[in-house]
Amino acid sequence: AKAEPGPSYAFFEASMNQAAQERMLAEQSLAKALEAGEFELLYQPKVRAGSRELLGFEALVRWQRPGHGQVSPAEFVPAAERTGQIQALGALIVALATRQLRDWLDRFGEVLPVAINVSPLQFEDARFVPRLLAAIEAMDLPRGSLQIEMTESAAIGHIEEVRPQLERLRQAGVLCALDDFGTGQSSLTMLRQLPIYSMKLDRSMIAPLPQHEASAVVRATCALGHSLGLEVVAEGVETEEQALAAEALGCTQLQGYHLGRPLQSTQAGELLAGRLSA
Ligand code: C2E
Ligand code: CA
Ligand code: CA
Ligand code: CA
Repeated sequence: AKAEPGPSYAFFEASMNQAAQERMLAEQSLAKALEAGEFELLYQPKVRAGSRELLGFEALVRWQRPGHGQVSPAEFVPAAERTGQIQALGALIVALATRQLRDWLDRFGEVLPVAINVSPLQFEDARFVPRLLAAIEAMDLPRGSLQIEMTESAAIGHIEEVRPQLERLRQAGVLCALDDFGTGQSSLTMLRQLPIYSMKLDRSMIAPLPQHEASAVVRATCALGHSLGLEVVAEGVETEEQALAAEALGCTQLQGYHLGRPLQSTQAGELLAGRLSA
């Protein structure tokens, strides 16, 4: 008699079909959204520790999906990474951020740096860095006005491909921050092997402050960052208590809802205008 596939096999096949189907749906809806221009960037302030002066912004992508409201990047960025559409999405984000910088420059005569989030998968496409530099050139942006943030975890295993590209970006004035520091492994290796200018301490490190053990970890991490000549950014600062602790422990920059929520372009422009005319 013919062997029947066991229940585990049947389950496996069913879940494969479901995964494939979901992938196809994600791919189609992302493709439509890219075409329809449903993505926009919000801009979250970064401030200097101590003075709390505005230093620049982090660009955070949002999908205004008709019938779904605002979809979080935590949902569609991983999907775009799975389908390969992260390259197209990443290119769009570069276009939006460089256009925004050009607009602010035209209106205010100067600008503060904007950091875009880059998926390490984007470095797998050899065209990414040249296109990023071409976009900066095409918009005639001043050196240093565009920065990137890249997560630690995702860069692990890609170090050999990523490093020369980061070198090239740095030579062109595009600084890189190591994002979500403290959530991955081999942090020290990454720090020493990649040409980065700042480390961003993940919210999970900042949230428990000023609790004793968390403070000791943040203090030691800041000391490490300083010894490597890096800026150390506290992410996800939600209270004044956390802000004061992060400052006392050695963080050089602060970011989080307490200092400023991610803002629409218009509001970010107003903040920028106030800072530049001050
Ligand atoms: P991330 O780069 O670590 O960004 C910080 C996230 O924390 C953002 O969520 C931000 O809105 C949120 N946040 C900021 N301050 C606070 C705070 O005080 N409290 C809390 N609870 N949250 C805070 P968002 O915008 O949903 O982005 C989530 C992640 O999606 C980002 O984490 C980043 O990894 C990714 N992402 C966002 N925009 C882009 C993008 O343009 N390209 C790529 N490749 N990834 C992006
Ligand atoms: Ca980030
Ligand atoms: Ca982060
Ligand atoms: Ca994160």
